[in-house]
Amino acid sequence: GEEVAVETLRRGATDYVLKERLARLAPAVERALAEAAERAERRRAEGRAQAILESMSEAFVVLDAGWRFVYVNAAFERMNGVRRGDVLGRNHWDVYPDARGTRLEAEYRRAAADGATVEFENHYGPWDRWFALKVYPADGGGVCVQVREVTAAKRAAAELRASEERFRTLFESMDEGYCIIEVLFDPADPGRAVDYRFLEVNPAFEAQSGMRDVVGRRMREFVPGIEAHWLENYGRVARTGEPLRFADESRALGRWFDVYAFRVGDPADRRVAVLFTDITARRRAEDELREQDRRKDEFLATLAHELRNPLAPLRTALQVVKLSPDRAVRERARDTMERQLVQMVRLVDDLLDVSRISRGKIELRRERVELAAVVAQAVETSRPLVDRMGHDLAVELPARPVWLDADPTRLAQVFMNLLNNAAKYSDPGGRIRVVAAVKDEAARAAGGGCPAPLVEVVVKDGGIGIPPDQLNRVFDLFSQVDGAREKAQGGLGIGLSLVRRLVEMHGGAVEARSDGPGRGSEFVVRLPTADPPAPAPRPHA
Ligand code: ADP
Repeated sequence: GEEVAVETLRRGATDYVLKERLARLAPAVERALAEAAERAERRRAEGRAQAILESMSEAFVVLDAGWRFVYVNAAFERMNGVRRGDVLGRNHWDVYPDARGTRLEAEYRRAAADGATVEFENHYGPWDRWFALKVYPADGGGVCVQVREVTAAKRAAAELRASEERFRTLFESMDEGYCIIEVLFDPADPGRAVDYRFLEVNPAFEAQSGMRDVVGRRMREFVPGIEAHWLENYGRVARTGEPLRFADESRALGRWFDVYAFRVGDPADRRVAVLFTDITARRRAEDELREQDRRKDEFLATLAHELRNPLAPLRTALQVVKLSPDRAVRERARDTMERQLVQMVRLVDDLLDVSRISRGKIELRRERVELAAVVAQAVETSRPLVDRMGHDLAVELPARPVWLDADPTRLAQVFMNLLNNAAKYSDPGGRIRVVAAVKDEAARAAGGGCPAPLVEVVVKDGGIGIPPDQLNRVFDLFSQVDGAREKAQGGLGIGLSLVRRLVEMHGGAVEARSDGPGRGSEFVVRLPTADPPAPAPRPHA
């Protein structure tokens, strides 16, 4: 019985010991098992992480505390054109010596030293490429670096900036006006443009448009009467997006414009860019040229006519002289011939003068002359015409002699032309006056620019007069007032243009005045006077 009991006890004790031992071993076993599982899991996780790192498009690098490459991914190999076998274990700054001392090194060291994450963009000079980098501290010293190449984006942005800069410079410096407008439509009738607002203008805008400080404001605020066609044009461009080029007038602005308009931006914004030039001066010049051309054509027709006109009476008179036995009749015929000839000679002389003056071929033979002598010469030449028309001609000159430094022949030609016109453009039996006065005070008052007193010579008639809008034009070459032609008596529209040029050559000015058709005309010639000539030395007694 006792042996059995001992045996039982022993077994019990062994069991106990085993159990005891087992119980003590279990945690270690479990731990070992758990650790094994953990290791496997970590390997799987690392494998997964590695797979992710390998498939990333961004380069990924791990450097240890001694700046040695510990890990590089596939993207890094592609980006830098290396194989990892060639860099792993080597010092980063030995592999890329050009990066030493650059911002790159500074940022790497900062991340390592501060344990901070640093993000920055870096231009790597040797390759002329841009990289966006994110550097963060790795466990146990060293850094992890994530790199994305941004060269293309950088270049595109730089190009955009450069092109914007170029356009900006262009807009700022060009002579054309440029603005961006927002077209405003009638809410009740969305197809109808009613106004536009200025969003942006270039510096030339002001000079070209004549409007200032427009940005943010509406066209109608400046020009309430802006013509409908401008609104229609810009409205159409905003609606259809079809660019429009046109030249048009804005009477409201008093200018002509050459315009190119095109839609910009989102169609819903109804924005139109307008490139424009003020062509008012060009239009005027073109009109002027057309007008000159027209006058020249007219002149040629008149000229042919005027040269032909005296020929018929000349031929008739010649026949009379040849055939008539009557001496008195022959005399009269001779007078006619002489008159017609004088007329033709004057015409041809005028023509020659005009062409000489316009080629600058006339030179004044100036001398000290008295106004009275010049006027007397002109009156004498015009006398036959004045008398034939039955006009009354009177001359009023200042009592004291008025001295001029002038070409007497040319100046006489001036007054003769004015007198002839006064005679031609008055009905027979008219009154013609030549009145001269020295404008001493006026000249002084005008200031120091005019040291000598002026003499003002007015040739007045009570004839057909000149419409106000023609007063300046009568001095233009070949210009004749409509309706005056029948009275022109062989005039070609040259005389007054000669008058003006000759007076200007003498340092003077001429002006036409008239209260209008039927109310007579006045031509005012202003000339600088000269000192009297030095008295001739007295003969010795
Ligand atoms: P022309 O007399 O040969 O036509 P002018 O150059 O002398 O040319 O004159 C130009 C125009 O000016 C004339 O055709 C006429 O219409 C106008 N004119 C000139 N003088 C007078 C005047 N005294 N009264 C009215 N009209 C005039």
